[in-house]
Amino acid sequence: MHGLMQNFPLLVPSLLEHAEQVHGNVEIVSKRLEGDVHRYCFPDLARRARQLANALQRLGVGEGEVVGTIAWNGYRHMELYYAAPGMGAVYHTINPRLSAEQLAYVIAHAEDQVVFVEAMFLPMLEAIADQLVGLKAIVVLCDEDELPASSLPGVLAYESLLAAESDQYQWLELDENRAAGICYTSGTTGNPKGVVYSHRALVLQAMNTVIGLELNSRDVILPIVPMFHVNAWTIPFSAALLGTKLVLPGKDLDGASIHALMESEAVTFSAGVPTVWQMLFDHLEQTGERLTTLKKACIGGSAAARSMLETFRDRYGVEPLHAWGMTETTSMGSAPILTPAVISAGDEAVMDAKMSQGRAVFGARLRVVGEAGEPVPADGASSGHLQIQGWAVAQEYFKRSGRDEWTDDGWFDTGDIATLDAEGYLRLTDRAKDVIKSGGEWISSIDLENAALAHPDVAAAAVIGMRHPKWDERPLLIVVLRSGAVLDRDSVMATLSERVAKWWLPDDIQVVDALPIGATGKVQKNLLREQFADYQLPTASIQPAAEHG
Ligand code: AMP
Repeated sequence: MHGLMQNFPLLVPSLLEHAEQVHGNVEIVSKRLEGDVHRYCFPDLARRARQLANALQRLGVGEGEVVGTIAWNGYRHMELYYAAPGMGAVYHTINPRLSAEQLAYVIAHAEDQVVFVEAMFLPMLEAIADQLVGLKAIVVLCDEDELPASSLPGVLAYESLLAAESDQYQWLELDENRAAGICYTSGTTGNPKGVVYSHRALVLQAMNTVIGLELNSRDVILPIVPMFHVNAWTIPFSAALLGTKLVLPGKDLDGASIHALMESEAVTFSAGVPTVWQMLFDHLEQTGERLTTLKKACIGGSAAARSMLETFRDRYGVEPLHAWGMTETTSMGSAPILTPAVISAGDEAVMDAKMSQGRAVFGARLRVVGEAGEPVPADGASSGHLQIQGWAVAQEYFKRSGRDEWTDDGWFDTGDIATLDAEGYLRLTDRAKDVIKSGGEWISSIDLENAALAHPDVAAAAVIGMRHPKWDERPLLIVVLRSGAVLDRDSVMATLSERVAKWWLPDDIQVVDALPIGATGKVQKNLLREQFADYQLPTASIQPAAEHG
């Protein structure tokens, strides 16, 4: 027997239609590259998205075709998020920090028909002009009078393109499994791999984000996580669904700019990678300013340090929310929802749980397996390869570039090493390729880095495995010190000793001015390994003092 409910597909523009009809007075506030703050409401966004859909058609973008965006978080980027999928095309968000070679690769691989670009990124396209012959147009996200002179032929101004179009457009009734967006992974080796999001996955994840981050209609939401990185964790779509004011920060992600925007727009919820939160903390520390409206801060993309969660909670009265996800999981795969048992166990138990990467979101299944694919007990201690299945998890990469990531029984291997406990809390200990294997035992670089960050002089930390004649690998701790600090080895070692097993202690500590940070805010350990390729651990010729056990 069939259910007798009306059958409406889950389509991206349905979020916008809902916001237009039900949340008509809710604002979208954007810090513009032009320097001012732009405001309008959801019905204005909907109207301009319809104009944009007409413009895309006029430019010759057909159903199933792809349009690239190289843009910050702003209202015009939001319009593209709706217009492209709504007329059957696909948005392809491009990370502006890609190298010229990677940029040319993703534009060609995705077969972008049109690229929408911020004026400041136009030179990136000019530098690869000879590889853009397939494009139908390049559109700069600006007014006609701000259109920069360019060596590229026929560059158009976004506002003129829109102004010529009707605001009448009927969003297409598509199959919900059709493609809506593409984002390429930020892998450090080989070519980037395209993940193709369906309308259905984006809508379901927009709902999951509301649940997982416990958002509500009284929130004012500022996604610092860029819209070119994993759909800004689907947070902008959740705003349309809930009717929350959305604040989009543009290009200025430094602590002072983010703080000013949070205060002036009364932001209650924000989300970003640890690096941006550290920039905000540095600013607050220097100025003595406070966070007077912020209530919740989501940290993701890299492991959050306990000291970061504690600073949010204890110094600023902000609830930290630590979540995990990947390009391949549309947005969050696990969310920081606490169990009643943890809450009743008190503040430190809550903080321990918050240090985990959360628990599986509805629609995602997590499992941890050993080297041969055998199940690993969910005891919170046994670690293995983290695998995921679910409605918002990729089943293959665009044009099938790479199959190794999927198991024969259909699970996606995340490349993360983790534990799960009986209550479903996920704890990441490493990336598989970063794991340090000492005498056959794994040392968690994430835990060691976290322990190092508890030292007051350590501003940033990374641990890499170095070759060792006896133990195969031993950890090297690389730190960036706070300004004015001098490395006190014994004191850092003492801090570590309080937090990790003796045989985990690094064989040496090296100081650098800065860690190499990649396009999505993660420490690039492959570059650190290159940087330290000729380095030899002091213990490499003698036996380390610490014994395993
Ligand atoms: P990306 O596809 O660029 O978003 O990278 C996904 C990877 O980032 C994951 O596989 C993890 O290794 C890492 N990651 C994301 N969130 C977290 C987190 N909360 N803690 C630790 N690592 C994380």
